[in-house]
Amino acid sequence: MRKSLYIFSLVCLFTLLCMQSMVFAASETATIKNLRISNNSDKVRIVVDADKEVDYQSFALSSPDRVVIDLNDAALAKNIEKEVDINSKYASKVRVAQFKDNVVRVVVETDVKKSGYDIFGIVGGETPYRVAMDFGNISYAAIGSTTGSSTSSSSNDTSYRVNEDFDIDKNAKSVLKGKRITIDPGHGGSDSGAIGPTGVREKDPTLRIGLNLAEMLKQSGAKVYITRKTDTDVAPQPATDVEELQARVDVGNKTNSDIFVSIHLDSFTSPSAQGTTGYYYVNGSSNSERLARYIKEGVIEQIGTYDRGTKTSNFYVVKHTQMPATLLEVAFVSNPKEEAILKSDDGVKKSAKGIFNGIVRYFSEL
Ligand SMILES: [Zn+2]
Repeated sequence: MRKSLYIFSLVCLFTLLCMQSMVFAASETATIKNLRISNNSDKVRIVVDADKEVDYQSFALSSPDRVVIDLNDAALAKNIEKEVDINSKYASKVRVAQFKDNVVRVVVETDVKKSGYDIFGIVGGETPYRVAMDFGNISYAAIGSTTGSSTSSSSNDTSYRVNEDFDIDKNAKSVLKGKRITIDPGHGGSDSGAIGPTGVREKDPTLRIGLNLAEMLKQSGAKVYITRKTDTDVAPQPATDVEELQARVDVGNKTNSDIFVSIHLDSFTSPSAQGTTGYYYVNGSSNSERLARYIKEGVIEQIGTYDRGTKTSNFYVVKHTQMPATLLEVAFVSNPKEEAILKSDDGVKKSAKGIFNGIVRYFSEL
């Protein structure tokens, strides 16, 4: 009995490992053009750039501990550095080689366990395809999670702490309990976003609104994930624009969120441009449209902005998320009147409350 259980477990494990590897029908050989490494205190990201989509498998080997990624129907470009040392506790070295005629093998020396790495393909951007390999702390910032990690303070986590009790009604609590919600405060770190006439940087109100919103949702019993809690980039640096956006999308997709809400400020050359817009993906679902519309209407109700409508778009974060998603342009940071709202505590809180009300309305009707 015990033995058969053991064999059964092995079979299950093997099946899982097989499912782990992604299978695409790649017809022609892809060229692996570049190997890049970025590194921060949380994780190491290794990226290989390819000129077309690549089928890959990964598996772990021991003594020494390493993770192997085989890229099938692939050829290594000649000028690639074959061996690079990594200065990180999560990985010490990466090697890349033409393992077989049509297989490029990447070997990462690392002793992180299965839960400590993640490998995924990214389509599009400046290169047609890339395979990203993350090693280290690959869990996402969960606000109010039971792990207690939310108290760990990062160096620039100062002015934006939200420590207050919001007055949340019973209905909101019953509607939001257990809902998984990813909030994406636009821009951050090296990317200020648009800048207003008095110097308000888009990345600051988006974070303040996001943190207030996160706190309200958390106090309502929702499970809240936020792509950044501080003034920081989301992807380990250096990263391309697409990698930065993909890192935000990853938070929504990998936490299996019910909705994804990206918060931005609009900007235009003319200072008179004004108002609030809700965006959703061109080919998005009717739920995405509703989410975008309700959140936009919630915000307008709170801060009294002009209604620019609910519009379709191809914004990366609404296009690549696998759940109903919206990108909200709260107001125009380039408009002096709206910049003043976005700068004020009152305006920030009301904007957050407006988004919150839109989310409650959205889930009330499901
Ligand atoms: Zn923006």
